[in-house]
Amino acid sequence: MAMDKDRNARHKRAMQRKKEHVDDRIAAATEDRGLLLVLTGNGKGKSSSAFGMLARSVGHGLRCAVVQFIKGTWECGEQLLFAKNPAVEFHVMGTGFTWETQDRQTDIAAAESAWSKAEAILADEATDLVILDELTYMLTYGYLDKARVLAALRARPARQHVVITGRNASRELLELADTVSEVKDVRHAFNHGVKAQKGLDY
Ligand code: ATP
Ligand code: MG
Repeated sequence: MAMDKDRNARHKRAMQRKKEHVDDRIAAATEDRGLLLVLTGNGKGKSSSAFGMLARSVGHGLRCAVVQFIKGTWECGEQLLFAKNPAVEFHVMGTGFTWETQDRQTDIAAAESAWSKAEAILADEATDLVILDELTYMLTYGYLDKARVLAALRARPARQHVVITGRNASRELLELADTVSEVKDVRHAFNHGVKAQKGLDY
């Protein structure tokens, strides 16, 4: 009994210290501005995290836009849900690029066309959140000019948030970002013979 009391008192003191520390950090975070987030790495969870933030933003009544730079072979649930929403401007890169195409010139044309949509959105003061899904591949393949992409990101409205997803984000993109998360692949069912699951994978 006495030991329990002791332990409870110690726990209470530790929690008080923790709360003070968290409160100090919350009080120190006073800036309020548009952020650039990069979600990269080989593990599962990049695009689904970005669309989680889209769901939050739509819930708060923010104006949002999505440009998907790789057209999947299946219609993904996020497109089915958000493309109909009047608060979300939704673009999917045209028929050009999928993992199956091998035609560099067609891919470049499709990437440029999608990027011109993204550029217009990044110049629009009324858009609060922009998701540039799988943008990193357009840079690693050299389909888009890196300097042009970085310039549009830098020049965007001060309060606009941007989320970029994709593996192998370039060094310049990582340097420009305010928040970077690298999702680590520990295990994925697909690599053990399980096919892509509706609702989880697309
Ligand atoms: P998600 O859209 O599920 O968040 P992601 O954006 O992190 O995934 P992508 O590289 O865009 O990952 O791949 C999209 C698809 O590939 C999804 O169906 C996802 O489950 C699958 N996938 C992601 N990472 C892996 C992996 N490490 N091994 C096998 N399949 C993966
Ligand atoms: Mg993805």
